Amino acid sequence: MKRVLVILTGGTITMVRNPQSGALRPADVETFKAFVPELFAGNVEVDMLPFNPLIDSSDISPANWTRMANAVVTNYTKYDGFVILHGTDTMSYSASALSFMLENLSKPIVFTGSQLPVGVLRSDAKENLLTAIEIAATARPDGQPMVPEVTIFFEDSLFRANRTTKKNAEHFEAFDSYNYPSLAKAGVHITYRPHLIRYPETLSPLFTHMHTCTDVAILKLFPGINEAVVRAVLNTEGLKGVVLETYGSGNAPSAQWLYKALKQATDKGIIIVNKTQCSMGSVDMGQYEVAKNLLKAGVISGYDITTEALLTKMMTLLGEHPNDTDRIKHLLSIPICGEMTISK
Ligand code: ASP
Repeated sequence: MKRVLVILTGGTITMVRNPQSGALRPADVETFKAFVPELFAGNVEVDMLPFNPLIDSSDISPANWTRMANAVVTNYTKYDGFVILHGTDTMSYSASALSFMLENLSKPIVFTGSQLPVGVLRSDAKENLLTAIEIAATARPDGQPMVPEVTIFFEDSLFRANRTTKKNAEHFEAFDSYNYPSLAKAGVHITYRPHLIRYPETLSPLFTHMHTCTDVAILKLFPGINEAVVRAVLNTEGLKGVVLETYGSGNAPSAQWLYKALKQATDKGIIIVNKTQCSMGSVDMGQYEVAKNLLKAGVISGYDITTEALLTKMMTLLGEHPNDTDRIKHLLSIPICGEMTISK
């Protein structure tokens, strides 16, 4: 019998309504378990490891990423796969972070949650959870795990975690992976697409990167953005990395003050990566004149990476190699676990 460890962090899936205020808040683990007796009656042995207390994912911090990663590492040899129950709001951040924190992963870690609490009649909780467990327990004919990656399963799609974004606060189809196809689709059967799944080339031991650095910022450009705002962000005390959200294929205003502010920041050793505000497509700083200033200012291309993946990749690399800017820049400009595709 396959064994799966379900790590409960919280989120709507675990929530009940507060009778006084009417607002949703995380329940305790026993209440949650009582709603899903089928978890313990199937052909997969399921154990639960709850955060205490369970939390809304708006309260998730890098310390919680480390806690999730540690829970996997501590139990790595005991289980065939892992499911992490998590609120949807910041699930893409946590799942992306874990993909960078756990190098040489050879077992499935499937994040899931739900849009309606488990106790609500029309809830999507049970289907998401039961399918996530099945995916975490599924092996190929050679006995190796079918999806040895960090993934998100939601509604009917299994996505590579570091390609996802929460796209909908209302529909059951809450996530998308705009720049990479789904790894599996769940209908009557779960149909896997092995040619899209990352399989380890060699079976190396799991290697962890548990340190993250929070001296980072996201700077989103908009028409009319002024110098004082840009400088306030770039002059933030201790700042080490910036996700610069640009237009289209990675374009920015050609104003000299912007170029100068960015150049001064990169000269100081601040790493700036260009991420397009578009959900689909890639940064290409060679295409338009207005992007050339960014290149000259030392800004790196983020190609088709998501903001969630770029930010968490930066935080992990800055945490692991605090004094090696060149190495971080190099690792940010190449895919390290399937998080981006370098366009030709
Ligand atoms: N606020 C909730 C959370 O992220 C939303 C959800 O789980 O869907 O924890």
